[in-house]
Amino acid sequence: MKPAPFAYVRAASIEDAVAALAASDGLAKVIAGGQSLVPMLNFRLVDVPLFVDINGIEGLSGVEETPGGGLRIGALTRHFELEASPLVRDRYPVLHEAMKHVAHLAIRNRGTIGGSLSHADPAAELPAMSVLLDANIAATGPTSKRSIAAQDFFEAPLTTVLAPDEIVTAVELPPLPAGAGWGFEEFSQRRGDFAVAGVAAVVEQDVARIAVFGVHDTPLRAVGAEQAFASGGVDSAVDALRSEIEPSDDLHGSADYRRHLAGVLCKRALEVASKRARA
Ligand SMILES: Cc1cc2nc3c(=O)[nH]c(=O)nc-3n(C[C@H](O)[C@H](O)[C@H](O)COP(=O)(O)OP(=O)(O)OC[C@H]3O[C@@H](n4cnc5c(N)ncnc54)[C@H](O)[C@@H]3O)c2cc1C
Repeated sequence: MKPAPFAYVRAASIEDAVAALAASDGLAKVIAGGQSLVPMLNFRLVDVPLFVDINGIEGLSGVEETPGGGLRIGALTRHFELEASPLVRDRYPVLHEAMKHVAHLAIRNRGTIGGSLSHADPAAELPAMSVLLDANIAATGPTSKRSIAAQDFFEAPLTTVLAPDEIVTAVELPPLPAGAGWGFEEFSQRRGDFAVAGVAAVVEQDVARIAVFGVHDTPLRAVGAEQAFASGGVDSAVDALRSEIEPSDDLHGSADYRRHLAGVLCKRALEVASKRARA
């Protein structure tokens, strides 16, 4: 199907882009990799009168070290750049692993981290990674800039706290504790499909971070499961996780199936992460 007619501007700066969004009464949309927006447009699931293309803006792409030992990832950084980055592989191996599960190579060559977070698909890997890794998301609007903790960013399926005239410019990851182990487990029906369920964990001694995707209406930091892990170990965390998530039914599986699956994946992720931490 062809999209409905639309206008297009290629922004030369963040200021230009934000001004174009602000002038549109909330109707215009940023286009980055186009890997979510264009299919939705072609299926006429969205009707966008104006696209503001941010691909020509200098300085929005790339992975760089921050003074504190973390990473700053530009919003236009492609999924494949993250997957191939030695900095990501060495400092956040869990993110390196997650990137291999994002769609297919052709999509990873175009899709961007800013687009994935802003699109906020609850089954996507990068939103879950952002809550797991305590990311801060930098956003610029017409009058101000702000930094939003990933845990406060996602409101509902495909909905974030971003205002219609705000643009994500970068994602900042604080360093992981030295010696932390990690685990990443995803079940999808075919390689490259969105997750039916996914769990990622970072473990340092008896402290775990656990994030889930595909089993709740947003990516979720499973705080109850994290507390249960500290007091009762892996099996307690699994039980807590299953009561903490609210999966939905769809063509790919019932809510009960997803709840069960999330527990299985959580157990595997925590066991692998604990083993890596001990090693
Ligand atoms: C067949 C297929 C399979 C896929 N499988 C997966 C998968 O398994 N896992 C997964 O995570 N993803 C998957 N995706 C989605 C892919 O990762 C997209 O690249 C990603 O969701 C959106 O990134 P984008 O840069 O293409 O954003 P776009 O499509 O350009 O934009 C998406 C949304 O984000 C907004 N936006 C984009 N950039 C910004 C910004 N900087 N600031 C504010 N708003 C912005 C846009 O206005 C739009 O609303 C798949 C896509 C396809 C087509």
